[in-house]
Amino acid sequence: MSRFWSPVVSTLKPYVAGEQPRIENLVKLNTNENPYGPSPKAILAIQSATADSLRLYPDPSALTLRQTIARTYGVDADEVFVGNGSDEVLAHAFVALLKHDLPLLFPDITYSFYPTYCALFGIEATQVPLTQDFSIDIADYNGPCGAIILPNPNAPTGIGLPLSAIETLLQEHPDQPVVIDEAYIDFGGESAIPLTRRYENLLVIHTLSKSRSLAGMRVGYAIGQRPLIDALERVKDSFNSYPLDRVAQAGAAAAIEDAAWFDETRQKIMETREHLTQALRSRGFEVLPSQANFVFARHPGHDGADLTRGLRERAVLVRHFAKPRISDFLRITIGTPAECDRLIGALDEICG
Ligand code: PMP
Repeated sequence: MSRFWSPVVSTLKPYVAGEQPRIENLVKLNTNENPYGPSPKAILAIQSATADSLRLYPDPSALTLRQTIARTYGVDADEVFVGNGSDEVLAHAFVALLKHDLPLLFPDITYSFYPTYCALFGIEATQVPLTQDFSIDIADYNGPCGAIILPNPNAPTGIGLPLSAIETLLQEHPDQPVVIDEAYIDFGGESAIPLTRRYENLLVIHTLSKSRSLAGMRVGYAIGQRPLIDALERVKDSFNSYPLDRVAQAGAAAAIEDAAWFDETRQKIMETREHLTQALRSRGFEVLPSQANFVFARHPGHDGADLTRGLRERAVLVRHFAKPRISDFLRITIGTPAECDRLIGALDEICG
């Protein structure tokens, strides 16, 4: 606290990102990064963009990147918005589309940046409890609301909703914006992007941090009909004209164009996820069914915080949330098969 702070600052509870420590021989399974590097073509594009042209500002509208995304998903470039990581795209969406007189709805167990944005932007929110089995039941979202945001698959549970459920939600809320945060959709879920054609209230948000392995570069995007994209642009141009630098625009476009690398790496991650799930279940863990690049698991005989600490002592990092209902769970990012073996070996040591 300082007397120089503006009133809102002292009320904030900032989001706490997973740690990025320097530990030797570390197995880092705590922030859902991709264990395989970005597309070699993206790295080449990044190297070529690192040139004298960096003295010039980048294209403020990132047109080439937006055209690449548009081609990939069969939409128009003016139905695509890009930002500095999907966190920034989300932040703009909260201001541009999710702040209304009636409350914003989102799950009680979900991406913990959502309540943080609500506090920062003064948005009233109602958190809708997940069902007993930790899934989202869209029937629970039928109350009066100003807007809805859901991750699909949800985080940190990894549980996905079928496209039919998203469509029902859109039909039941024709007058409210519905934002679907598809950060983890490429690991087995079904994207709602095709529904943006038919539903003017739908905005879908993606990131290059997970399935495109570019968390270090900070690129995210949103797809929706023109009026929704216009709203995001109005906020962006009231905040930062150049959120994506030249290097990021070039690297992101090349990463999205490399479909072969994308398919090969996400396939490997999905296979490893099934092996890891089996290995954990055979050791007595309950593992929620995941469509993401992580699993959410708990052991009936072991405290989640203790397991996390034990793993850390063995240089294996996972994420633990000291929150009601989920404090016994570990969120474990899918690493390489060798990294997952290290995790299982460490758990065997801890659990005996
Ligand atoms: N949405 C969800 C559900 C996430 O888990 C994350 C990653 N922490 C993000 C969005 C943001 O990802 P990024 O800013 O790296 O695009």
